[in-house]
Amino acid sequence: MTYRCTERTEPGQPVLLLALAVRNHHPNTEWARDGSFQCLVEDVEHSFHAAWLRTGSGENSDVFLCWGAEGQWLMDAECCLKTRTPTGAECTIYRGHPGRCKWAYVDPPQVAADAMADQFMRDLYGRRGAPMPEGP
Ligand SMILES: [Zn+2]
Ligand SMILES: [Zn+2]
Repeated sequence: MTYRCTERTEPGQPVLLLALAVRNHHPNTEWARDGSFQCLVEDVEHSFHAAWLRTGSGENSDVFLCWGAEGQWLMDAECCLKTRTPTGAECTIYRGHPGRCKWAYVDPPQVAADAMADQFMRDLYGRRGAPMPEGP
């Protein structure tokens, strides 16, 4: 089993200001929405962590929030874009990343979220045979 790196960070103001200044090839810049930036790399030796921050300056580039012993910095890099199958989802980690592609490792929080969603659906639809509470 291979897992996703569990390191997280919050972007500091200096990197956010820098990120605002990155030119954008696309009409709309997309930004990471959730507050916790988790490293995208597989949980193997890697010299720095990298989380997705926003779309980048090129057609296939993204801005990654990187961090390590030297603090935080930005990387406007081409994306890996490898797919497992010709029509499969593209790997959105930067090109040349260490470890496996995003679709090849297990992300435990994602697995847990999927399991919870499954359980919810079972709870919701799986008890067709059970008596429903009587209405008035
Ligand atoms: Zn990492
Ligand atoms: Zn990849």
